[in-house]
Amino acid sequence: MMVAEVVVDITHEKLDKSFSYLVPPSLEAGAAPGMAVRIPFGKGNREIKGYILSVSDKTDVEPGKLKSILSLENTEESVDSRLIALASYIKEHYGGTMVQAMKTVFPVREKVKDKEARTLRLTDEERAREYLEVARKKHYAARERLLCALLEAEGFCLDAAKARQAGAASDDAVSFLEKEGILKKESRRAYREAWPGTAGGGKRTPPSEDDALTPEQAKALSEIQEEWEGGAGRPVLLHGVTGSGKTHLYMELIRRTVEQGRQVIVLIPEISLTYQTVTRFEARFGEQVSVVNSRLSAGARYDQFCRARKGEISIMVGPRSCLFTPFSNLGLIIIDEEHEPAYKGDMTPRYHARETAIARAGMEGARVLLGSATPSLEAYRRALMGTYRLVRLAGRYEGRSLAQVSVTDLRAELMAGNRSLFGRELKRELSSCLSSGHQAMLFLNRRGYASFMTCRSCGYVAKCRHCDVSLSFHMNGRLICHYCGYQEDSPQSCPSCHSPYFGGMRAGTEQVEAAVKKILPSARVMRMDFDTTRKKGSYEEILSAFSRHEADILVGTQMIVKGHDFPDVTLVGVLAADLSLSESDFRCAERTFQLLTQAVGRSGRGAEGGKAIIQTYHPEHYAITCASSQDYEAFYREEMSYRELMDYPPAAAMLVILGSSRDEEKLKEAMHYLALFIRRICPADKASLIGPAPLPVGKIKDAYRQSIRVRTRKEEALLRIRELAERYIALNMGFQDIFIQFDME
Ligand code: ADP
Ligand code: ZN
Ligand code: ZN
Repeated sequence: MMVAEVVVDITHEKLDKSFSYLVPPSLEAGAAPGMAVRIPFGKGNREIKGYILSVSDKTDVEPGKLKSILSLENTEESVDSRLIALASYIKEHYGGTMVQAMKTVFPVREKVKDKEARTLRLTDEERAREYLEVARKKHYAARERLLCALLEAEGFCLDAAKARQAGAASDDAVSFLEKEGILKKESRRAYREAWPGTAGGGKRTPPSEDDALTPEQAKALSEIQEEWEGGAGRPVLLHGVTGSGKTHLYMELIRRTVEQGRQVIVLIPEISLTYQTVTRFEARFGEQVSVVNSRLSAGARYDQFCRARKGEISIMVGPRSCLFTPFSNLGLIIIDEEHEPAYKGDMTPRYHARETAIARAGMEGARVLLGSATPSLEAYRRALMGTYRLVRLAGRYEGRSLAQVSVTDLRAELMAGNRSLFGRELKRELSSCLSSGHQAMLFLNRRGYASFMTCRSCGYVAKCRHCDVSLSFHMNGRLICHYCGYQEDSPQSCPSCHSPYFGGMRAGTEQVEAAVKKILPSARVMRMDFDTTRKKGSYEEILSAFSRHEADILVGTQMIVKGHDFPDVTLVGVLAADLSLSESDFRCAERTFQLLTQAVGRSGRGAEGGKAIIQTYHPEHYAITCASSQDYEAFYREEMSYRELMDYPPAAAMLVILGSSRDEEKLKEAMHYLALFIRRICPADKASLIGPAPLPVGKIKDAYRQSIRVRTRKEEALLRIRELAERYIALNMGFQDIFIQFDME
């Protein structure tokens, strides 16, 4: 017996409601997720259209009471059918329910209400998290609720009226946080545009003669075409240094695809979605293109998806979620900066855009192009193994050379008595750069908080003795490993060299700015970080002011390293290269190499050459040496052998099971039993299991968080383990108040 779950209306409100139908034996062969069917519906058995969400051989309904599907619709496969099939792939691959997968793929339908409809938007995540701690300590319950709701909201944006109704936004809390500059009231209408100020499309300028491909670019293009038109049609990994013309090549491929009457999806990471990129796409493709950003409300995304469905646009440029644009004849998916962590989300199902793009393209006969200067290990490995086709762009456009890089050993600086943030070489180069009328960028390699302990004298970082990750410093004075749960007291002096300069790493852009002013009092300095980009549009303002040369030095965090072309910048200084090296994540060396390579790539984009100086406590670390020689291959070899040794992805497949609950005891017990269960179903020689252990942020919003990691060389085994674990969790009472999420690495 075969039973199908059928939905009759693909809207968010209706998705939770599906109906079971019997599949007659004659239709069994064709019944699959996404298939459109005719069914008898309601009391009068009116014949209507529905879509199959899933099929199985079990049902809760008494089989005698089931109605049967009348027929499968044999018409051309519709976009909706394909997207449902894609949702089904996501569910199979990344876990969660079919409804969650459907809600990921289909955007919320949300009509614009009156103009007064207001939203509350978080403007400063870092300060919000800081203030959340204060509110908790002082028991400001209303402010705490509002902050939690904002931090949790998609795009950090809440519907003001709904939030108030739900008791999450009292008027007092709103006006307090607004006064503090942590949130901003805005009208929703502004969000319905794809990109502020450009809705309606710009004018289109045809490509000029100057835009002809260089011989190297033309060669890359013909390799890509050979693969897609005459060859196996594999996804292509375009490996090209920054400034080699990858985007230029994308444009050419897009043009050709659109000329064939097919559509294109271009994914780019949020951070490089700047005004520069937008104008470049609009100048080339005009009204055919919609560029959206991820702060867009769900409703505005829905509007853009409608335009795509109606055929008003043929090119969709935007973040991860644009992958689900309902184009009916999709020809090409491009993923720029393929290695960016932003291509994987935190919400269930935690799909990866790269894998999901390849799955979608496979179903719809489209091609996939992945581009990066520093490909992810996953992608490069597959390219070497022949799963993807590797195409290279080795040189920069017009033969511009890459920056000359040197490394400063901060330990040596300290020994020579230099305790300032700048090594002697950086100090020297900064002043000569400015006196020759050029610009410099100072990059503080920092994302959020750096909670690890490090020694200022020797660079020693406290690490777990069982795992190759740094220990996190906690307020109670303990150092904790977030992989295995190991703990120790935090030492008073450096365990390696006994220096007293041992503590939590702290250095902000403000300190850097102050230090610059001390050594170069006449320099005009701009700062770009969470504080200065709080206001809407300020990000663009800073970047364009800097490109107009209104400042000599731009100081910033990770947000300054990508996506901008500043021809006058001839010096990039990386102040603390080690910061990302010490994050408690097995990908931290890869991340560091990528960030440093990108940072170094900011220098010398114009006709003049450029210099870059990397300051570090680990000048011998391969992430640093390879970034300084800009040698991707060497980095890949080193890092891959480390992953092989440690059984980390992509050498092995890894499944992370995240559990969270407000009840710490229940969570611990449930995760303990889950680990036992997994041990029982997979023998130790097939998979290794670590945990349960607390996550780096062990508690969020009063919910405790733990994880279990399962690693194996066989990915199929992992899918099976996840399936069984999902079933175990569903049947087990102990998981009632526990939120479980699966993360496939
Ligand atoms: P990438 O995406 O690899 O960083 P881009 O496509 O942004 O490289 O190219 C870097 C710069 O060189 C851009 O300003 C781009 O307009 C220019 N450029 C690259 N290739 C060409 C070309 N064939 N003709 C004209 N300009 C080009
Ligand atoms: Zn450990
Ligand atoms: Zn030390």
